[in-house]
Amino acid sequence: MATRIPKDVKDRVAALRKQIAEADREYYEDASTSLADYFYDQLVKELEDLEQQYPDLVTPDSPTQRVSGKPVEGFETVRHAIPMMSISNSYNEEAVRKWAKQVADLLAKADGSGGGSGGGSLFGGDVAVRYAMDPKIDGVAVSLRYENGRLVQAVTRGDGVQGDDIINNVRAISTVPDELKTQTPPAVLEVRGEVYMPLVAFEKLNARQAEQGKPEFANPRNMTAGTLKSLDPKYTRERGLCFTAHGKGEMKAAAGQALPTSYSELARWIQKMGVLVNTVTVVDSIEAVLAHIKEFEASRHDQTMGTDGVVVRIDDFSQQEALGATSKSPRWCMAYKYPAEQATTILKKVDWLVGKGGTLTPRATLEPVFIAGTTVSHATLHNIEEIRRKDIRINDTVFVEKAGEIIPQVVKPVASKRPKDALPIDPPDKCTVCEGPVEQDGPKIYCVNPECPGQIAEKLKWFVGRGQMDIDGLGEKTIDLIRATSGPDRIPLEHFADVFLLTDHRERLIELDGLGEKSVDAMLVGIDQAKQRGMRRVLSGLGIRHIGSSASRTLARHFKDVNALLTATVEEIEALYDFGTVTAQTLHDWLHSEQGKETLQRLQDAGVDLTSRDYVEAADDALTGPSSPFAGKTIVLTGTLENYDRTELKEILEQHGAKVTGSVSKKTDLVIAGENAGSKYEKAVQLEIEIMDEPTLLKQLGASNG
Ligand SMILES: [Zn+2]
Repeated sequence: MATRIPKDVKDRVAALRKQIAEADREYYEDASTSLADYFYDQLVKELEDLEQQYPDLVTPDSPTQRVSGKPVEGFETVRHAIPMMSISNSYNEEAVRKWAKQVADLLAKADGSGGGSGGGSLFGGDVAVRYAMDPKIDGVAVSLRYENGRLVQAVTRGDGVQGDDIINNVRAISTVPDELKTQTPPAVLEVRGEVYMPLVAFEKLNARQAEQGKPEFANPRNMTAGTLKSLDPKYTRERGLCFTAHGKGEMKAAAGQALPTSYSELARWIQKMGVLVNTVTVVDSIEAVLAHIKEFEASRHDQTMGTDGVVVRIDDFSQQEALGATSKSPRWCMAYKYPAEQATTILKKVDWLVGKGGTLTPRATLEPVFIAGTTVSHATLHNIEEIRRKDIRINDTVFVEKAGEIIPQVVKPVASKRPKDALPIDPPDKCTVCEGPVEQDGPKIYCVNPECPGQIAEKLKWFVGRGQMDIDGLGEKTIDLIRATSGPDRIPLEHFADVFLLTDHRERLIELDGLGEKSVDAMLVGIDQAKQRGMRRVLSGLGIRHIGSSASRTLARHFKDVNALLTATVEEIEALYDFGTVTAQTLHDWLHSEQGKETLQRLQDAGVDLTSRDYVEAADDALTGPSSPFAGKTIVLTGTLENYDRTELKEILEQHGAKVTGSVSKKTDLVIAGENAGSKYEKAVQLEIEIMDEPTLLKQLGASNG
């Protein structure tokens, strides 16, 4: 049969699967879909159709064979049969003793005997407790529900009352049995525990990040949470996620079955049925608890997973029940958390890595040192102010800390060990990726170049949006789709100017999945029109730091085109209404940077008109504020305006000293009404409030410009 499948069908199926897998990968790594839902659905639909036509092509790992074909925003939300609370933390011996004392008092009270002779009291006067302890794992808490021995649900903690059912991912975890290994399964058994990523797997992942010069993942816990968000269980399997039990939810016995009456008993029971449980240590005094905590600290890094403490619980279930819970956490349980571990080593160099949003973050390279179970060769320095405050220098011996298995950080230098050749750490004077100008804003340093590869995707989406280039048919989804093209069919979209060059790629755009001839042509018309929006809209579209729509408007009123703007000094820009030193300097730096000049040149070459439509000869900004006819007025906007979107107009009016509110009342001074104004318009008529139409508004705004 297989021979009858045409080659182009086979190729298409392979291509579809690849594209879907790629979208999935991005989804779980960034927890955001780059391929928009609509296009994703189209791909899956096409694949389903082909597989239906040629059933021989169906493979078990095809994306169509998943329970749900696509990564979705939310999994099914399920209510916990018994709330899933988090446990409270203690950080020292004293707190542990205090907790033990409270437990003893509460149990004595519950017993009704006050510790005296029993007889008919809850525990018969015997309120001696046993403590059951196991390592505290830093992972994602999940509740597994078995009905008659079969796994039917795996729900995240969520808000404690309800969580997401992530059963398909949990099924891919090797330490979670799909069916309990027993002849007589309980009617209901909820096993609660932690899903986590083993440290070895996490380190491998981060080594790869470091190799590629990318910031490392913060900790295995976040990575676990991110992986579990994917609807494709293969990532759970690939990443080698594990599950270890640490408690129970609802339990219902099978007919004639006796259920465990303590945690230690439960642990043995479920372990026999194939569920992984950590070693449980049971002791009968608080001194023994403290001794165990101390003992475990020395060996905890031999564990394959990140542990940051010990969970101490009252073993006996009837005692647990008597103790109950506060609104936040059960009274019968607490976690002792170890302080962060430190070591000293030598700081050899500092690199500035560019993250999303253009922030440059300092990362130290260290003489490798063994901390908390792993060899550490990189650590974060947070930001330039932290570096200066702590006076950390290159070649210093530094304390490095690993708190809660989070990526290590440089804590402080060892002052007495400072060598003569210690070098101060300077902030970068240009972006380490694109070499564009940088700006320091508070403790953070940003790359100012909007076309920096680290930020361009987000910036392009803003650029084409309403109020900026306003290009119909070129939205976020299409941008992602175009940027996902590769190889000989790649359609370049790396610069703002590339938007306007899309007209050269009509044929290839039409071939893109989800786009058709009609929508591509409509988009290209929109692109062509956008070339004429003028300097103000281009400036606000570029997303230069601090230059939003109102600053762009001010600039467009003062400079008749980009060339005029390029000749302005920092002082001239700073003198403009609402411009400060930082804003003026940042803009000036960008305008005169290689990257800025190139961006503007490319736009001009692509046919974008960079003259101002808003230029007012001899504009005097000192007059813009208080002397405006809108100053001090309470204004309501209604209907559709041709020249402004609402947010934009609101901003302008506020700049003129007006207050813009949402509903018409006696306090309203003025209603600005566009097309199709409705009830607000009627109310304004009723209350005899001044109403202004758009042509008048334009005139007034112009007039107030002097
Ligand atoms: Zn950059």
